[in-house]
Amino acid sequence: MNILIFGPNGSGKGTQGAIVQKKFGVAHIETGVIFRENISKGTELGKKAKGYIDRGELVPDEITVPMILNRLKEDDCKDGWLLDGFPRNLAQAEALYEALEKEGIKLDYVIEIELDRQTSKNRIMGRRLCANDNNHPNNIYIDAIKPAEKDGTFVCRVCGGELSARADDQDEAAIGKRHDIYYDTETGTTAGINYFKDRAVVIGVDGKPGVKEVSEELLEKLG
Ligand code: AMP
Repeated sequence: MNILIFGPNGSGKGTQGAIVQKKFGVAHIETGVIFRENISKGTELGKKAKGYIDRGELVPDEITVPMILNRLKEDDCKDGWLLDGFPRNLAQAEALYEALEKEGIKLDYVIEIELDRQTSKNRIMGRRLCANDNNHPNNIYIDAIKPAEKDGTFVCRVCGGELSARADDQDEAAIGKRHDIYYDTETGTTAGINYFKDRAVVIGVDGKPGVKEVSEELLEKLG
């Protein structure tokens, strides 16, 4: 099963992605996670990507597209993948679709989590990352995944691990830029989603309700 998942930053895309990934047992590939790992390890790729990420801009396609197309060739992707954070614009959507066509790889589903810009922004500012596991979602503004408290500080609600906020999550200008890219219907992410509408099965779900309601609707639509 090969799946793309779209949703504005703050829509719960990572959370829903983890649920879908578990259900189908596919590799979960998150572009942002790959970049952040490279930044923390100080790799060449990380050094190249850091400035763009800090400003809320896209890392150039010349870097991102080959990185992802190569990642999809790795062993763990043989039984399927869930791609999150890529494509992020129309050019990446076209490059991915053409590469898949060439390799004879079927795109089974394209998931779109729909959420308005203001709600997405509030959710981003409340998001916290677990030091132990990237699939432990915490958000101080969403009751269902509110962190636990220990000695007056927030800790991961799943494992009690240390929490941190991503610098780009607290920067309103950067959030604005990321949303400008996402909601752009000309060349941005929404243009990329629209590109798939007559090329794959696109499943739209309302991202407004709680995690459980959204995942129920999503899993039902995935069949
Ligand atoms: P995310 O964790 O998905 O919000 O990604 C964090 C940052 O990584 C983005 O704001 C971009 O700077 C960069 N990034 C992630 N995915 C892509 C992509 N497909 N193309 C270019 N840059 C990306």
